[in-house]
Amino acid sequence: MTDDFILEMRGITKDFPGVRALDNVDFKVRRGEIHCLVGENGSGKSTMMKILSGFYPYGEYEGTIIFDGKEQRFRNIHDSESVGIVTIYQELALIPELTVYENIFLGHEIKRGRFIDWNETIKKAKDMLLHLKPDLDPSRKVKDLGVGHQQIVEIAKALSKNVKLLILDEPTSSLNEDDSENLLRIIRELKKKGITSILISHKLKEVVEVADTITVLRDGKMVGRLEKREEFTEANIVKYMVGR
Ligand code: ADP
Ligand code: MG
Repeated sequence: MTDDFILEMRGITKDFPGVRALDNVDFKVRRGEIHCLVGENGSGKSTMMKILSGFYPYGEYEGTIIFDGKEQRFRNIHDSESVGIVTIYQELALIPELTVYENIFLGHEIKRGRFIDWNETIKKAKDMLLHLKPDLDPSRKVKDLGVGHQQIVEIAKALSKNVKLLILDEPTSSLNEDDSENLLRIIRELKKKGITSILISHKLKEVVEVADTITVLRDGKMVGRLEKREEFTEANIVKYMVGR
């Protein structure tokens, strides 16, 4: 692996009333890798990713974010998306009443102020979904899909925005075995296309299976960074998570 880091977060500290959620955390992600972020409940994983996505804007945390070689001071989620950082949330952000292809394309087609050629749009959505989940019909309403399929739509939406870094915060926690496997397959496919992923998961079996690098948080501190395959065992990760 090269030392080409797409992301460096340095000295990140974040306080909430009465709790230091993150304490001087350094976090580095290589371009094109699958980077797993693990830690017990409340260790600061989601807060870290919310800082990266601009949900907590510049000024509401201490530290520095370097993405794609530039210091970033995101004011909101739109700012981070505009440089290619897209988050798939635990709580899904789709519009249930609209179809799959409308959800994938509507937002930014309208933003660009373009006339929408729906035939072309459906065809594009079909092409995209073909790689992700061939049996998913783009003309179905999102509210009629299961969680697993809704996540696929979120990923298709992210891909249509030219994502460089995909953040997945516990995406498989509400998925069955098949949908989880499919999601991990997709993350690996994206890696082949050069897309970097940060995956938060408490399922250590899948972490061990899919990770190139693992960062462990405990009580808001970075306590471990595992880079060698032979270190990737569930027992070893747990050791870092609980601090023995
Ligand atoms: P994780 O995702 O690893 O479970 P979080 O980042 O959600 O952890 O939370 C880290 C710590 O910050 C926890 O102690 C949690 O209670 C606290 N926390 C998170 N979000 C908020 C918030 N909006 N207000 C107050 N405390 C919060
Ligand atoms: Mg969380």
